[in-house]
Amino acid sequence: MNQFQYVRATKPQAAIEVVAKDPTAAFIAGGTNLVDLMKRGVMTPQKLVDINRLPLNKIERQGNALRVGALALNSAVANDAQVREHHPLLALALQAGASGQLRNMATVGGNMLQRTRCAYFYDLSMPCNKRQPGTGCGALEGINRMHAIFGASDKCIAVHPSDMSVALVALDATVLVSGPKGDRQLPFADLHRLPGNTPEKDTNLLPGELITAVDIPDSPFAKHVHYQKVRERASYAFALVSAAVALDLDGNTIKAARLALGGVAHKPWRLAAAEQVLVGQPATEASFRRAAEVAMQGAKAFKHNAFKLKLAPNALVQALKTAAAA
Ligand code: SF4
Repeated sequence: MNQFQYVRATKPQAAIEVVAKDPTAAFIAGGTNLVDLMKRGVMTPQKLVDINRLPLNKIERQGNALRVGALALNSAVANDAQVREHHPLLALALQAGASGQLRNMATVGGNMLQRTRCAYFYDLSMPCNKRQPGTGCGALEGINRMHAIFGASDKCIAVHPSDMSVALVALDATVLVSGPKGDRQLPFADLHRLPGNTPEKDTNLLPGELITAVDIPDSPFAKHVHYQKVRERASYAFALVSAAVALDLDGNTIKAARLALGGVAHKPWRLAAAEQVLVGQPATEASFRRAAEVAMQGAKAFKHNAFKLKLAPNALVQALKTAAAA
């Protein structure tokens, strides 16, 4: 591991100033992804600003939303009574991620900002435009079983690995950010980017910006929800495909739906058109299949991941059936 300087911050603004002024500096909280990346030499920050002592771990009501601090631990959020009662989809997605030990270390902010698990990104002997812009993409002609079927570019076909983020995009969450120019909010759907020509940029955060919290608005989606994660072993594995679904039902009629897929794109993949297809329809497998067809429009497979073209709609239908029956 490269040598680096370590600074412990006690005030958000002080931490932001250090990282904003120094492009080689990085925030560190749980470190469950960043430390791995540093050990392998994929990321080599010269300075780490430890933000663990900042007062950003509360889970509390704020107006018409539940505000979850960026330093709240994944396990604390998954077990929080308010989250479980009002936003069980988020709890289910968090429980599906990583392992118990990792959830006890990983924070909400870090979960959002974790980097792709594309094997070529971690292998310094291989080309990777995300790790080193302009070197090429090892996955395009390599083993691309885990890779994207939506929104990829000829520069990068990686997927975002977070389960939590799939639930948050479905729940219309808002990200709260502090930076050198002040505070701002952005819809969760706008936090992560598609790779385009700049796959080295995972998010739309500006230099020095720190995620402080995420707001999850009140909604009627507390009862009929499900997070379906398909992976290669029962725990501690990233999703081949996942589906976060929430239904608002009036009897057996769908009043509203929220749908998103994970493991399919460089960002959590919201399915707005498929949601509209469900409105006013009976909560039946036939309706769910029609929505899944719409959801898959525009999907494109690479050499080794064509199975996702079937797996994704099947996971979505299964999740909808489970949610409707909840
Ligand atoms: Fe790198 Fe993206 Fe290609 Fe993976 S898919 S090798 S992360 S450029």
